[in-house]
Amino acid sequence: MSSPQPRPNVFEIPPYVAGKPPTVRPGMTSYKLSSNENPYPPLPGVIEAVRAGVEAMNRYPDMGATALYAALGERFGVPVEHLSVATGSVGLIYQLVQAFCDPGDEVVFAWRSFEAYPIAITAAAATSVRVPVLPDGRHDLDAMAAAVTDRTKVVLVCTPNNPTGPAVTQTELDAFLARIPSHVLVVVDEAYVEFVRMDDAVDALATYRSHENVVVTRTFSKAYGLAGFRVGYAVGPAPIAGALRAVSLPFGVSTVGQAAAIASLEREPELLERVDALVAERTRVVEGVRAAGWELPDAQGNFVWFALGERTAEFAAAADELGIVVRPFAGEGARVSIGETEANDRLLRLAADFPH
Ligand SMILES: *Cc1c(COP(=O)(O)O)cnc(C)c1O
Repeated sequence: MSSPQPRPNVFEIPPYVAGKPPTVRPGMTSYKLSSNENPYPPLPGVIEAVRAGVEAMNRYPDMGATALYAALGERFGVPVEHLSVATGSVGLIYQLVQAFCDPGDEVVFAWRSFEAYPIAITAAAATSVRVPVLPDGRHDLDAMAAAVTDRTKVVLVCTPNNPTGPAVTQTELDAFLARIPSHVLVVVDEAYVEFVRMDDAVDALATYRSHENVVVTRTFSKAYGLAGFRVGYAVGPAPIAGALRAVSLPFGVSTVGQAAAIASLEREPELLERVDALVAERTRVVEGVRAAGWELPDAQGNFVWFALGERTAEFAAAADELGIVVRPFAGEGARVSIGETEANDRLLRLAADFPH
């Protein structure tokens, strides 16, 4: 007897390795630094804003997410036809590949980068083209441009790059875009844009306005601290944003997700305060780790990257002993999120004590 068979590509989908929760140790607070989450609770007023949605959970959400579109459009000065909201930017990546790739079409991206990319690409039976990052963790944009073939439909630019940390400059992005054919969609994944502090930072909203093949993806998961509610948005030219909305999961963004995102957008000053505090902690961590003799790539997100190679597992185990959980990438390195002050202090202790 034959049984139903998934498409062959389904067996090729790499597993998503989620950041582990901390090991519980008696008498010791443990900290999760493995998923680039925001250590702060929701912004003031956000829980209250969500409560009405909780009480209406027997009703479907507003399928058009009308109020959220209006809030995003106003906040970023873009027409709502240029927006598409989704269940996190992971949802957007799935939609982008689904809307733009036929089976076998190629998607070019840096590697190591966000691990959801090859998952979404393989799920759509498209082909991943991984271009190694440079030794300092930056995108090799020359090699990425050179990797574009006549099968390429999408290029993903992750800036700042998760997990290595550096961001692309506007000058680099402009030079790159000049080399990409106009029918190839360039996705600028700005999941950590709020944390960027550098000269010549990318202005992705200006960039999409001057390119018909550029779309920007952002999320409420990181800076806004809403990872558990799954809300992201894309900003791009109307035909691209429209294609994303067309393939979106009906009712994907929940009532509470919409309410939390709107309330968070309304609390810009408090948001910026927290982001600034996390950036200050990032600076403290990077300087301390470097002072302990490590070479760290530039860190423009809410995390730092230790290129440990074969010693990655050992480092992760030593971190666990100190009550912090990091995200190891076997044989490559460990990503450590910027967390609570105490958690960051422990990372600094680890960096000082771990033989390197
Ligand atoms: C965390 C992250 C995302 C967003 O995740 P969602 O929670 O699905 O919005 C997107 N891209 C990168 C590079 C990330 O690190």
